[in-house]
Amino acid sequence: MENRMKELVKLLNQYAKEYYTEDNPSVSDSDYDKLYRELIDLETAHPEWIQEDSPSHRVGGLVLDGFEKYEHEYPLYSLQDAFSREELDAFDQRVKAEFPSANYMAELKIDGLSVSLTYVDGRLQVGATRGDGSIGENITENLKRVQDIPLTLKDNLSITVRGECYLPRQEFERINQERQEAGQAEFANPRNAAAGTLRQLDTAVVAQRKLATFLYQEASPTERLTQNDVLEEVAELGFSVNPRRLVSSSMDEIWNFIQEVGQDRDHLAYDIDGVVIKVNSLAMQEELGFTVKAPRWAIAYKFPAEEKEAELLSVDWQVGRTGVVTPTANLSPVQLAGTTVSRATLHNVDYIAEKDIRIGDTVIVYKAGDIIPAVLSVVTSKRSNQEVMPVPTECPSCGSQLLHYEDEVALRCINTSCPAQLKERLIHFASRDAMNITGLGPSVVDKLFKTDLVRDIPAIFQLTSEDLMTLEGFKEKSADKLYQAIQTAKENSAEKLLFGLGIRHVGSKASKQLMEVFGDLNALATAQQEEVAAIDGLGLVIAKSLQDYFATENAQELLRELAQDGVNLTYLGQKVSADASLSGQTVVLTGKLEQMKRSEAKAKLENLGAKVTGSVSKKTNLVVAGSDAGSKLTKAQELGIPVVDEEWLLNL
Ligand code: NAD
Repeated sequence: MENRMKELVKLLNQYAKEYYTEDNPSVSDSDYDKLYRELIDLETAHPEWIQEDSPSHRVGGLVLDGFEKYEHEYPLYSLQDAFSREELDAFDQRVKAEFPSANYMAELKIDGLSVSLTYVDGRLQVGATRGDGSIGENITENLKRVQDIPLTLKDNLSITVRGECYLPRQEFERINQERQEAGQAEFANPRNAAAGTLRQLDTAVVAQRKLATFLYQEASPTERLTQNDVLEEVAELGFSVNPRRLVSSSMDEIWNFIQEVGQDRDHLAYDIDGVVIKVNSLAMQEELGFTVKAPRWAIAYKFPAEEKEAELLSVDWQVGRTGVVTPTANLSPVQLAGTTVSRATLHNVDYIAEKDIRIGDTVIVYKAGDIIPAVLSVVTSKRSNQEVMPVPTECPSCGSQLLHYEDEVALRCINTSCPAQLKERLIHFASRDAMNITGLGPSVVDKLFKTDLVRDIPAIFQLTSEDLMTLEGFKEKSADKLYQAIQTAKENSAEKLLFGLGIRHVGSKASKQLMEVFGDLNALATAQQEEVAAIDGLGLVIAKSLQDYFATENAQELLRELAQDGVNLTYLGQKVSADASLSGQTVVLTGKLEQMKRSEAKAKLENLGAKVTGSVSKKTNLVVAGSDAGSKLTKAQELGIPVVDEEWLLNL
């Protein structure tokens, strides 16, 4: 028994490290919860064998290098779990034994990560992670990039509020799509993606991912009387507060609320993993107090996990628009979170190898972020196939040799004229966030491709109604409708075209920002890398990708052809001056300036919204280097930070 307890502690600590510190869990939450339960039961039966490093005595994770530590003035806690109505009733009885008149607040348990926001005199001073509850990471700069966190509060208030920072499901899907195309490992679920994003050292990446928050606690002393008052106050101060909640003294009503939320769970815009039930009166909360790890006045009901076993029948390898080849499993059909699932992603070749997934295996399928089914692991005890999964060496579309780059988890076809890639690029080009050509979906693109009518982007704009009539299933009316949709798309504002080109790392938001500054695709095509990198929220990776793209003869030819076909290349919205783009950027001045005094240069940068600092670090966005620049310039180059000269500053 003691050995089993030691084993459980070791395992759980390993899983907690992967989950909290590395944002890369290797087991599902329900598997973790089962082992944790087993440990708690053993610890209750044998307190004499409780291990010193048991997770039952500690909150959360560790603090990573790279961020400053932040000591919380008011500690953060975990929550006790409940998995059944009986456990909730037991909680209710414990509370009511002390406070027969107690009311509860039931709130959604948002599946993100807790953050603590401290405002001093109305200004956001520190934003931090929970860490081990006492010491978290100072991630203020990253949290400032989360749109719904106010930077200032009215009335010069000093207050510490707590809540959950999460990634909306739609954004999770977008990011994973992008990562897949870039050959990077996908995030396992929105929670891990949110945690990974908040621990980014590059604030520009945080700004691009639309994190959001729900606040639910005032940690600093408050004059409010109930949890409901606190939520109302926090909402009034301008924070996002989840509107879905219930105050009741009856466990029956709370149980109904839990059932209703459980049914709607799949339709929410964000992940939840349960419902938190808190004693509503703050005075009663104070009386009930805390255990070492969690409040006695709250409990988290966790929904049962949506995981099922299925047989892996075969694997399809599909080529995406950037040439990444992704494996999808065909499964024996299973019911999962309300839908029948017969296909699930296997992510990439490295994932298959790491988990040793084989054809014929019984696998565990789950919905990542409750939306996209994915294969989690193999039930090896049910394995009969001895053969390791064969991995294709040739592109299933064009037959060229597939590459597996050392720094990528995926296989890649690098033949730029590979038909599968061309087709996927056309589908992306016509899609809603790109050129939004109604009626030009995957099946029509497929027909245009097969009949050789369209093989590249400009050919779309050269199509006539007569051409379209030749397509299977098209009549005069439908052909004309699609023709009109294509003509309308020619007039689109150019950010849609830019996004449609599918340039690596250039998403729809970055496309809009770029066009707001440059106004015209031709101007962007000839822009300097530094000019792009200096735009707030973008960065060197995007700048470099654009430069590489527009440097090719193909891209230049494409712009010429599109212009000839009458496609609009200019931005039709409100332009913003490039000057404004230094706002929030950290800039370092170094070397000898010839035409301006250093103080003038500093003042100019500050007038443009930049913060001028003395030393180059990972947080620096831009370095202005005069002549004879020394170690700061070298450091900037080592860190890949954009460097501009005095001339650039004069031209601003
Ligand atoms: P928890 O997630 O069970 O509950 C506490 C947290 O709930 C709080 O810190 C807060 O961030 C959050 N929360 C969301 N909405 C809330 C609301 N309305 N009110 C109050 N709090 C709210 O506790 P934990 O200690 O963070 O994590 C334990 C859980 O993490 C485990 O049960 C397990 O599911 C998961 N985990 C998984 C692994 C793995 O390897 N898969 C490893 C470790 C932990």
